[in-house]
Amino acid sequence: MTDHRWAWAEIDLSAIDYNIRTFKQLLKPDTLFMAVLKGNGYGHGAERVAFTALMAGANRFGVATVDEALALRAAGITAPIQILSEPPVTAITDLLDADITCTVTTPEFLNSLSGEAMLRQKTARYHLKINTGMNRIGIRPSDAASFLIEAATLPALQLEGVFTHFATADQINDWDAQNQLELFEHAIELIRGAGIDPGIVHAANTAATILMPESHFDMVRVGIGIYGLHPSHDTYGKINLDPAMTIKAKAFLVKPIALGEGVGYGLTYQAFERVDIATLSLGYADGVPRCASNAMSLLVRGKRVDQVGRVCMDQLMVAVPEDLGIRAGEEFVLVGEQGSERIFLDELAEKAGTINYELACDFGLRLERVYI
Ligand SMILES: *Cc1c(COP(=O)(O)O)cnc(C)c1O
Repeated sequence: MTDHRWAWAEIDLSAIDYNIRTFKQLLKPDTLFMAVLKGNGYGHGAERVAFTALMAGANRFGVATVDEALALRAAGITAPIQILSEPPVTAITDLLDADITCTVTTPEFLNSLSGEAMLRQKTARYHLKINTGMNRIGIRPSDAASFLIEAATLPALQLEGVFTHFATADQINDWDAQNQLELFEHAIELIRGAGIDPGIVHAANTAATILMPESHFDMVRVGIGIYGLHPSHDTYGKINLDPAMTIKAKAFLVKPIALGEGVGYGLTYQAFERVDIATLSLGYADGVPRCASNAMSLLVRGKRVDQVGRVCMDQLMVAVPEDLGIRAGEEFVLVGEQGSERIFLDELAEKAGTINYELACDFGLRLERVYI
């Protein structure tokens, strides 16, 4: 690796490979696997994850934005890529040129898609999103069949799939998730009843893939799980996953401070004995949650040590017992394994009052990624 900066995210691609293969064991042999790569692959780097996912048996990819989709095409990914919400109408020509599959939720978008596809003498594949209760995007289940009957009159379109998304699948035996599932199944029946083939029927995110096998239908859409992270406490013990991301930094300065001296902005930490302070080039611009200042642990020489003082934009400080004799250049782990100790991203997320999803994305913003 280039030594421009002493902080980096190590991404273990073999863990991602293992996680996808593990998920595929939960599926029937003909169930498709969509690897969800939005948020730059949940901070893991979408392109490298995409190639690993294909080798592990992923069939398709899901992204959030037009640019995420185009970047994957530019990187040489030829597998189907779906934008998981309706993109801006102004992006349609670029999407058709790059053969990106759209999610559709409004007749206006579908009309434009049809018109542009006809001009280009192409067939635009799309998936209809049905809102079964999350109330984020999608059309009502009762409107799905009539929407598709209308859509069938438009040229240059192919309905490739129909899907929904769960709000509460991460809670075991959840009534709302069951209710969403029933509404979705009913909508699919109405679509079929109207003589329309819904194509690829899909609903399950990571949590539902693990906890609700009856929701697998023709394809599952797995995001957080392929990175080795759990969507909630309820999936622990149900599947064995291997976290792919490790956050590491080398101390670039270690110095002793005396009893009573403070550390960082606001001097929110004060030494109660002589202690060594190690400064790492990791800060909130790298994704370290500032709100967890003074509450985080790191690993050095396989031991837990305390982060002290407020996290700065580009640096944070760690108190290390004098007898460890830590020197500049020593490697610290903020998330991951060192020796026999391990800090899970979930532990850090809990201290920051958020979820592993958010922290993983944030660690993808500035840190250099090193693939192993
Ligand atoms: C993000 C997303 C997923 C993946 O969710 P995970 O909980 O990370 O598995 C699946 N489907 C849609 C529509 C999404 O937006």
